[in-house]
Amino acid sequence: MKTIDLKRIIRPNIQLLKPYSSARDEFNGQAQVFLDANESPFENGYNRYPDPHQRALKERIAELKGVRPDQLFLGNGSDEAIDLLYRMCCIPGKSNVVIPSPTYGMYTVSADINDIAVRTVRLGSDFDLDVDAILGKVDEHTRLIFLCSPNNPTGNLLDAEKIAFIMSEFDGLVVIDEAYIDFTGQDSWTQWLNQFQNLVVLQTLSKAWGMAGLRLGLAMASAELIRYMDRVKPPYNISSATQHLALSQLSQVGRKDEWVASIVKERARLRQDLERISRVEMIYPSQANFILCKMQNAAAVYEYLIAHGVVVRDRSAVAGCENCLRISVGTPEENTLLIELMKRYA
Ligand SMILES: *Cc1c(COP(=O)(O)O)cnc(C)c1O
Repeated sequence: MKTIDLKRIIRPNIQLLKPYSSARDEFNGQAQVFLDANESPFENGYNRYPDPHQRALKERIAELKGVRPDQLFLGNGSDEAIDLLYRMCCIPGKSNVVIPSPTYGMYTVSADINDIAVRTVRLGSDFDLDVDAILGKVDEHTRLIFLCSPNNPTGNLLDAEKIAFIMSEFDGLVVIDEAYIDFTGQDSWTQWLNQFQNLVVLQTLSKAWGMAGLRLGLAMASAELIRYMDRVKPPYNISSATQHLALSQLSQVGRKDEWVASIVKERARLRQDLERISRVEMIYPSQANFILCKMQNAAAVYEYLIAHGVVVRDRSAVAGCENCLRISVGTPEENTLLIELMKRYA
């Protein structure tokens, strides 16, 4: 069991914070007339403030994810959880974080916004972790290590033993971003929450669940850490529309499973078809809902596809992803169109 001293990781001002107390915190019983929150009394479905603790939604998500509701934080997208972790743990101009590269861009953007130094460590040639290099960057001011698995934009799962070693050695928070976990067939790191007190698992409803437009990100961690996140978040960070719509979407587990099965099947087909295209130099193994593909002159292929109404992501400017396009797996029809265009271009 790995324990850490949260008092050393959480900023002193956050430990002392007296959180905002909303009208719904001070009274949430039954009443006939609510004159306590300066809401409009005229019913239109949205005139009341939402549940600041998202009780019903958390209950359902916790059940789906196999965690306790008190181990779950809900944010306005994972991006809110990422920003909150910085503001809770990192002192501007003083703390630092360690981030492998290439990876998801928000970790660094959020660090820059909060004036936190980023120490990057290049992933190896197979896009896996260099554990010694990562731990070598850690000093007494390092608060967070971000690990994205499967990694965006490379698509690979990071080695589990390496992740576990980093968690056991590092005395700050290890944030494992599992935005693409549903496409892997692997178990979530959440099953290790009771063994590693410094583990934070991020997931999202934006990918497999098809709710990118609703903005719902999950952070799962020890109840003690979640309590700090809840104190720092804006009181009503998840709207009642989002809470209602998400609950109704989450009842359709079977539909989500069918979508995931389709993506996984199409991912394999896309890979096979891309392999036959002469300009494609390398297709990286992917456990996510996208494929990273090294091409001859990726920028020209990108422009050609746009001219034919298909947009993919040009990752050429990312160190380690030179001449690479990141292609999201679409519907079978969309993937066929992409392949037809690529064949014509070649
Ligand atoms: C898409 C993605 C997310 C999801 O972000 P949301 O704000 O929840 O939509 C998180 N992490 C990674 C690595 C992603 O690629």
